[in-house]
Amino acid sequence: MQTNDSPNRRQNPDHGFDSQNPPDPKTIDACVHCGFCLSTCPSYRVLGTEMDSPRGRIYLMDGINNGEIPFSDAASKHFDSCLGCLACVTTCPSGVRYDQLIESTRAQVERNRPRPTAEKLLRKLIFSLFPYPNRLRALMRPTAALYQKTGLQRWLRRLAVLEKSRPSLPP
Ligand code: SF4
Ligand code: SF4
Repeated sequence: MQTNDSPNRRQNPDHGFDSQNPPDPKTIDACVHCGFCLSTCPSYRVLGTEMDSPRGRIYLMDGINNGEIPFSDAASKHFDSCLGCLACVTTCPSGVRYDQLIESTRAQVERNRPRPTAEKLLRKLIFSLFPYPNRLRALMRPTAALYQKTGLQRWLRRLAVLEKSRPSLPP
């Protein structure tokens, strides 16, 4: 398992997870790769890629732990795409604690994969708004009014921006 703060890892963060609470190999090993969790995972259903499913992320964690997969930005994006809804935890017949695994992994991503400032700010905004329905509600009223009054709504509809950016949304 390549989970240390060795000079190698410090010089090249792709080298692996650091030694602070990496995803637990025993918890990872509890996954039998049955795939029952895939149908309940929203990120897999939308993105359709194995690495954006619980099973795929667990496979990535294992590969990074073992030094077989680099802890790269590309790998981190698959962890970022997890919504943290934990639907997979209740579906898993083997009782895999994906919640614990993703919690450890997110902390690794935050510590070891620096993000561009714009992305950092966007994430800060999302995490300080979305888990708080009251804050969201307070923000939605004036924003919705502005959206309609400024003509932005008509303009976006005319350009079909939403349909183009999210083809799965109904028109
Ligand atoms: S997390 Fe659970 S449901 Fe998903 S593949 Fe692993 S064992 Fe199967
Ligand atoms: S917690 Fe992540 S992996 Fe599990 S179902 Fe939700 S989006 Fe998918």
